[in-house]
Amino acid sequence: APRIGVLAIQGSFREHCGSLRKCGLPAEHAVEVRTPDQLQGLHGLIIPGGESTTMANVATRNGLLPALKDFSASGKPVWGTCAGLIFLADRALGQKKGGQALLGGLNVTVHRNFFGSQVNSFETELPTPKELQKLGGEDDPTFRAIFIRAPAIVEKGPSVDVLAQIDLPEGTTTSTADENGQEINKVIIAVRQDQLLATAFHPELTADTRWHSLFLRMVTENRDKADAAAAEGSSM
Ligand code: GLN
Repeated sequence: APRIGVLAIQGSFREHCGSLRKCGLPAEHAVEVRTPDQLQGLHGLIIPGGESTTMANVATRNGLLPALKDFSASGKPVWGTCAGLIFLADRALGQKKGGQALLGGLNVTVHRNFFGSQVNSFETELPTPKELQKLGGEDDPTFRAIFIRAPAIVEKGPSVDVLAQIDLPEGTTTSTADENGQEINKVIIAVRQDQLLATAFHPELTADTRWHSLFLRMVTENRDKADAAAAEGSSM
């Protein structure tokens, strides 16, 4: 089984580890990451929800920021949920004064606390994206999305695939646009860009393990590909 790290600075990292175990990952293969050396030997990384400013500050103080950047730049799968999505984004709106450090890599503009003034936290059923079908033995046509002071993606680059969207809440004034700058009445809440996965909601707070199964499959496929490439290299 691959080894998956979960950034354990703050937020819902224990819940992520629990969901990974529910997907069949041996407990010792779900690794809590607090220091740069703990990233060694990992095949994938989850950045949980929490508070992105705090997470960025602690990661900067612990010297984790460059190590995390190297990790995701090395092409290993990284999944950010909620604050983790903000952290992975190339651009963030609604930041605290003075801005905040972002890991970047995901070619999106994220709006922090997007649903903030309307509804701080809410849950809803959304159509299951095709990427989640036939995972974890469940073929529920919907999935439960839990939003907690959640961000939304208001702009994305062409290499970013949309996995899920949600209708704009009534009274939302923030505009969103597609690649051509056309206004749209939905915001993006889950995306994939190559080995980066990002969700604005919290699958780790539900009993549904399909999002974790999707990530586990990304990690396993990526590791197998890297192993095969290494074997080919050494036989020449
Ligand atoms: N609003 C938080 C932030 O900006 C994210 C909330 C969450 O992760 N549940 O970091």
